Amino acid sequence: MNTHPFGTAGASPMARRRFLQLSAAAAGVTFAAAPLRPPNIVMIYADDLGYGDLGCYGSKIRTPNLDRMAAEGIRFTQFYSANPVCSPSRAALLTGRYPTRTGVPHVIMPPDKTGLADTETTLAALLKPQGYKTMCIGKWHLGHQPQYLPTMRGFDEYYGIPYSNDMTPRPLMHNTETLEEPAVLETLTPRYTQQALQFIERSKNSPFFLYMPHTFPHIPLAASQRFRGKSPLGLYGDVVEELDWSVGEVLTKLKKEGLDNNTLVMFSSDNGPWYQGSPGQLRGRKGSTYEGGVREPFLARFPGHIPRGAVCRGIAGTIDVLPTVARLAGAALPKLPVDGVDIWPLLSAARPNLEREALLYFDGWNVQCARWGKWKLHVARYNSFAYSPAPAGGRINLPLQNPELYDIEQDPTEAYDAAAENPAVVAEITARVERLVAGFPEEVKQAWTQTRARQTAVRPAGALPAPAPRK
Ligand code: MG
Repeated sequence: MNTHPFGTAGASPMARRRFLQLSAAAAGVTFAAAPLRPPNIVMIYADDLGYGDLGCYGSKIRTPNLDRMAAEGIRFTQFYSANPVCSPSRAALLTGRYPTRTGVPHVIMPPDKTGLADTETTLAALLKPQGYKTMCIGKWHLGHQPQYLPTMRGFDEYYGIPYSNDMTPRPLMHNTETLEEPAVLETLTPRYTQQALQFIERSKNSPFFLYMPHTFPHIPLAASQRFRGKSPLGLYGDVVEELDWSVGEVLTKLKKEGLDNNTLVMFSSDNGPWYQGSPGQLRGRKGSTYEGGVREPFLARFPGHIPRGAVCRGIAGTIDVLPTVARLAGAALPKLPVDGVDIWPLLSAARPNLEREALLYFDGWNVQCARWGKWKLHVARYNSFAYSPAPAGGRINLPLQNPELYDIEQDPTEAYDAAAENPAVVAEITARVERLVAGFPEEVKQAWTQTRARQTAVRPAGALPAPAPRK
């Protein structure tokens, strides 16, 4: 049983008060009275929104509600998705595990019949025994066959498109029924928002978990009439401004219902920007394990428990959400091993960073990079990082003949390879990767072995043809 800082299970009132006092002292904040029940959890998840796409992350797109959420809570500067594409990122968020363990290493596309493995416990399923009402509103993308839909995976209710808006067919579903097909894209954000407000309204007398994975700004883009043509940054800006409006509506509703101080609201994105949008100053976009493909905005607001206006520069990621929420809700962790860690010490600003062996950057079955402290080691890379699946054999994970080492805190653009000056760091991270890979499913181990075996196939250093002499 986890230590429960707020609710009734797992911790005595004295322990709860002690926890709050300790957190308050560490964070320099004054807490309101401890909530009487486990906190409500709201997780809002954008699709393909870049690290640089919110006002509070330097964008010119107007996002006053998200900016206010950051001002009233905490903003992370090094928060990572476990994968640079849609389905695996969601698998990690809802299980606390690297997607290569969950049966979802790749994007699921119709007519695929796969989905999140039935041995996995989702965050919703974890919260149900704690008395939570649960709803998923938006893009599911963890399997669209009946046995994989949200209502079979711990959610009482579902409303949304079961995968990406660029896939065919495009049904808008309520639970397991199709409401319309194709879904009218311009109406989605307002309708998702209306569903969210109604769910809060009817769930307010019990703890609830609202998981709101928006359809946008994944392409094809669409905004409602009210927002279309209003942003100085074109349709992409319109779409993000409408998402920001939606967040504002949810926050306003929580306040109106008196739930403000007992609700943890989180906002992030599943992967970096695709054709539009901005990764800020970072290198790479969706489908790349450079920072721009996987570093995401992350905001968390929980008045009285998370200090106002805090900025966390520690390392965290979507795999950490489940263990953190489980602890807050007093829920037992799943039986399968969880890769994430409880980041409440970061959220409450009690600590600047947390120890972990290394954070792995996967694409598909392949480990391509690892982060340890300020260092990021690139060990492998595709011959092309185009997102679309290449013809068979056209996309190969290749080992870097000389692994590249970047000091991410000094060099977030991954422009200066410091490997030659830091061989001990390269060796240390390589050893950590080896240890971690040994604990992964066979497919990961095989991919790792196969990638390394390609070392001999790579052209030796210095073997490039000499440049032609100048005439
Ligand atoms: Mg995505």
